Amino acid sequence: MYLILLGLPGAGKGTQAALIAQAARIVHITSGELFRENIRKQTELGREAQPFVEQGKLVPDELTVGMLLDRISQPDAVKGFVLDGFPRNVDQAKALDEALAGNGKTIDMALYIEVSTDELVRRLSGRWNCGKCGAVYHEESRPPKVSGACDRCSGQLYQREDDRPDVVRTRLKVNVKEMEPLLQYYRSGCKLYEVNGELGVDAVKDDLLEAMSRGQEVR
Ligand code: AMP
Repeated sequence: MYLILLGLPGAGKGTQAALIAQAARIVHITSGELFRENIRKQTELGREAQPFVEQGKLVPDELTVGMLLDRISQPDAVKGFVLDGFPRNVDQAKALDEALAGNGKTIDMALYIEVSTDELVRRLSGRWNCGKCGAVYHEESRPPKVSGACDRCSGQLYQREDDRPDVVRTRLKVNVKEMEPLLQYYRSGCKLYEVNGELGVDAVKDDLLEAMSRGQEVR
């Protein structure tokens, strides 16, 4: 299965993509994480992408598309993947479709997790991550037992540069503008399935899995 998970930053794509990848036994690929890894390692790609990522702007397509196509050509992605954070605009979606078509493949479904903008600002600006194991906390809805420390591994918690409230607003503005045409692109190909992302994690996961089985029946 070749899946795309769509949603604005903070909609829960990362959490849900991990859950459905596990359920469908396919690899979970996150474009934001690929960029952060390249920035950590200070690769050439990382150095070029860094200013865009830090300001919450989209990295230019020339860099993003190449990175993503390279990742999905790796052996672990051959029999299926769920993409999280890519595509972010119609040009990226077309580049992906063309690359897949060249290998006789196609995107099966684009799943959209819908969450209101007010809720997204609240979620993103209260988010804290563990620097050691990657666990995610929230000041209000999932606070750590000890402030600043991870419950799982005691690692130090940090706030992503681009989760600061001023950057969050830029990220949302940029992404909202690109989202509607992207939804329309998949809608017109009859590949779009929408779920309410304001329910609990398990309810959203169940709705996504249900949409996936409906989608498989149609295809
Ligand atoms: P995310 O964790 O998905 O919010 O991504 C973090 C940052 O990585 C974004 O704010 C962008 O700067 C960059 N990024 C991730 N995915 C893409 C993409 N598909 N196109 C352009 N930039 C991206």
